[in-house]
Amino acid sequence: MLVLKLSQTAANPSAVLDVSGGRHFISVVFAACSAFFARLPAIGVERLAIFASLFFSLSCNYLFFTTAWAQRDWTHPASWLFAAGLFVTITALQSAGLLILLNRWTSKPLLTILFMVTAAASYYMNKYTVFFNPEMVRNILRTDVREAGELFCLSFVIHMLVFGVLPSVLVWQLRLRTTPLRRAIPVRLLYIVAALAVTAGSTMLIFQDFSSLMRNQKEVRYLITPSNYLFSLSRVVAADTAQAHTPKIKISDDAKLAAGWAGRTKPMLFVLVVGETTRAANWGLNGYEHQTTPELKKLDVVNFPHATSCGTNTEVSVPCMFSIYGRHDYNEAKIRSHESLLHIIDKVGVKTVWRDNQAGCKGVCDGLEEQNLSESKHPTLCDGERCLDEIMLENMDGVIQKAKNGNLFVVLHQLGNHGPAYYRRYPANLRSFTPTCDTSDLSKCSREQITNTYDNGVLYTDHFLAKTIAYLKSQTSYDTAMLYLSDHGESLGEHGIYLHGLPYSIAPKEQTQVPMVMWMSPGFAASFGVNKDCLQQRAANPVSQDNLFHSILGMLQIESSYYDKKLDMTAGCRA
Ligand SMILES: [Zn+2]
Repeated sequence: MLVLKLSQTAANPSAVLDVSGGRHFISVVFAACSAFFARLPAIGVERLAIFASLFFSLSCNYLFFTTAWAQRDWTHPASWLFAAGLFVTITALQSAGLLILLNRWTSKPLLTILFMVTAAASYYMNKYTVFFNPEMVRNILRTDVREAGELFCLSFVIHMLVFGVLPSVLVWQLRLRTTPLRRAIPVRLLYIVAALAVTAGSTMLIFQDFSSLMRNQKEVRYLITPSNYLFSLSRVVAADTAQAHTPKIKISDDAKLAAGWAGRTKPMLFVLVVGETTRAANWGLNGYEHQTTPELKKLDVVNFPHATSCGTNTEVSVPCMFSIYGRHDYNEAKIRSHESLLHIIDKVGVKTVWRDNQAGCKGVCDGLEEQNLSESKHPTLCDGERCLDEIMLENMDGVIQKAKNGNLFVVLHQLGNHGPAYYRRYPANLRSFTPTCDTSDLSKCSREQITNTYDNGVLYTDHFLAKTIAYLKSQTSYDTAMLYLSDHGESLGEHGIYLHGLPYSIAPKEQTQVPMVMWMSPGFAASFGVNKDCLQQRAANPVSQDNLFHSILGMLQIESSYYDKKLDMTAGCRA
């Protein structure tokens, strides 16, 4: 047991830590451990691989096993056989992988990396129910340092010390047995064959249950750690390498402005606000119990209460909503390799500008103008780390002037409700719903606190959108309009799930139902022949991010062979 020497001073009656005593104690413990390990016999790499796999099964696969074993009748012996068989299958299979990767030179550094990364992965899996599929791994790889910093907390540090640092230190203390190569190779092959044979044997024993698990709950395989992130990482690296330096496949070649543009007297200014992590369930205009949209409520907007997202994270949703493929024809590689809606709009002569307060346009605006405002130094809107979304309305006049008062399509990419640090997403004057959760460690707060804090963030989006509309109203020399659409929703503790990013097929509706709102100036409606009352009447119909591409083309009267009238939600409401 660690005993720290405490001393008291007369001036300060409180206990003061005697640091030199602590240091001495640690060095004694370290020396004792070193002496202990030096006495241990050397261990073969094969045994080390098996122990490491056992460690992963026991310490990092809680979510996988509890999901796989859920709803079983434990009075039935078959359930126990399935539980044991599954444990053996996973451990033997991961052992086989480690037996291929580890040798006398790679064992210690590789296991250290695996222990550390797996510890971090298992922390977030257990805390937020994260599935490490390729989309999630891509999302993490594109996460910026500030976002990662917000996920950092004391319980994470403790978890890393116990499940990452401690096993790593132990591994470095071990002496590895050295065997001549001619003997080592056949022994290693024997171990690999044995591990695969055990995998096959145990799988056969539970085959019926195992195959039905993999068929009915396919996504659970992304909970098997560390195989999940290693597999997904290799998929992402392979896909990105194949696509690197390849120019985007053109879809804009045949696009042109329709005849309606000839008689237009004013230039057009269209603002598309791409929201972040705002869910439909907490949207005041959708009838939510908290009035989270008091400002939009007073404005003449069309609200779409039944909108759904393409994905459950930014990396999927943002490229998808601007693509010709969408969710109905989802193909990540094709979406990333083709031009986006913005390239079509730019091609016909409407200048596009992507203003970002998030983590970039995810390839949507490649080759087009992109302004990163998230690191601005505004005295009131920025705190040195992050900026409030209103930063994107700063110097809008400059953007307009740069377009030489011509037609302009501006995308504002919000920081929105990005969690878990919801309390940092709104200014103090919008702390309306209380008590709040003023930490990014959500486990320290009640569901009520988390929801209140999240709702204050929604209030800020409401304010930001109202301010955007006010700005557009002030631009009387333009025909102006705004469309707002959140990229995906968020779980706030329903079924014990937090944040977002669950595989789409099993994602709860909280993560896929998003708010969507349209506003247009009378001039825009008249000039582009959009009947707002008609749109208002049809707004209750289900829509999705798949409608964005075609509705924007249709509404802005841009002709393209990729336009699909069936997916244009405004088609029936235009003259
Ligand atoms: Zn997002």
